[in-house]
Amino acid sequence: MIGLKPGTPMDDRIMSASPSRQGSHTGLCALRLGIAALVLAPALAVAAPEPAPTPSFETCRTDLIAWAAAHDVPQAVALAQLGGLEPDPEVLAATRNQGEFVRPIWDYLEASVTPARIEAGQRKLAELATPLAAIEAKYGVDRYTLVAFWGVESSYGTVLDNLAVVKPVVRSLATLSCGDPTRAAYWRDELTAALQILARGEAPLDRMPNGLTGSWAGAMGHTQFMPTVYQQHAVDFDGDGKRDIWTSATDALASTASYLLAHSWRAGEGWGYEVVLPEGFDAALADETTSRSLAAWRDLGVKPARDRAISDAAAQATLILPTGIRGPAFLLRPNFSVILRYNTALAYALTVAHLSDRLRGDPGFSRDWPRGDRPLSGDERRDLQSRLTERGYAIGVDGKIGPKTRAALRAYQGSVGLPADGYADAALLERIRAAP
Ligand code: CA
Repeated sequence: MIGLKPGTPMDDRIMSASPSRQGSHTGLCALRLGIAALVLAPALAVAAPEPAPTPSFETCRTDLIAWAAAHDVPQAVALAQLGGLEPDPEVLAATRNQGEFVRPIWDYLEASVTPARIEAGQRKLAELATPLAAIEAKYGVDRYTLVAFWGVESSYGTVLDNLAVVKPVVRSLATLSCGDPTRAAYWRDELTAALQILARGEAPLDRMPNGLTGSWAGAMGHTQFMPTVYQQHAVDFDGDGKRDIWTSATDALASTASYLLAHSWRAGEGWGYEVVLPEGFDAALADETTSRSLAAWRDLGVKPARDRAISDAAAQATLILPTGIRGPAFLLRPNFSVILRYNTALAYALTVAHLSDRLRGDPGFSRDWPRGDRPLSGDERRDLQSRLTERGYAIGVDGKIGPKTRAALRAYQGSVGLPADGYADAALLERIRAAP
């Protein structure tokens, strides 16, 4: 889903909040917020001033109606949509689960890039060859990337009418506006945008049996736009005068291309590719931030995993090792960062990137993942961060293994003679727990 403000760049938590939704592999997957899970603060030992009472949902709903009416939503629409609405407890539960539930990256990739999804995507590429060629020509985003987003976000639209997967957008966003105090203004603005979309008749409700539906966080349509992102980036590409991301795959794909181009997609460049590292390679070079030319990486012994011509030796790329030195390695081109603008989770971006390659006919990864490794739980990630902090590394303890934590890990690993790959697994945590 796009439109949620990015959190830590390339956060390696898996994206979706709700284990049940994730476990069903429905495809409406990009539901990862760039925020930490809501955590109840421990009781303070010292008496603190009484906090202001949290307004009831009913009071909050009344305020939202007034807010919407003051922001380009006819009062009748605001009342019809919000009056009498009850909060959705599943939506709040989903925000609380954010980031606590972890699946290994290979698990996510394999659930998302299945033979059935590759085959279905190839059928869509054939069916929509004409509009996809026109979208490519206009925006410079290749059809494989666009169809990969579509497949990952909504299984090519097949889940959009399934109420086991989608929810009423207005109810979800009202619930979040009133129940997620850390981001109340953000949710309120998304809710207002959704009401504006309804008021303007932009969504073809006559063809949407369940009304305006979306993910629990309010992302809508074939490629899962948040309402404000719809307003800024959606386009009418099939020429019927409506920007219809809900029932027109052509409009949704073009809207995604429009979004990617607006975030600096580079035409004619891929996202990157898998590479093989030489024996004894210094894993600390895979610091995810240092760009080197493809020629410089080649000189360091980094080779494409599959035969491919490196035509642009001066082009810049960064090296990442998502599961450390024992797993696949990737050189990332700038377009990979544009994919991360859709969803900041590394597993998400790598899934879209890999599905795009598979749709093009490329094979799977050449190197297997370290499948014996167990990912750390939220508590274990916080424990690891605390222990690194105790050792003098200035990082936050938020349970998110982002670039700062990985940099601290690399420094720690280097200091104790381990390969400095910045990979946080259970074995590393045991090691740091055992060390004095
Ligand atoms: Ca249209």
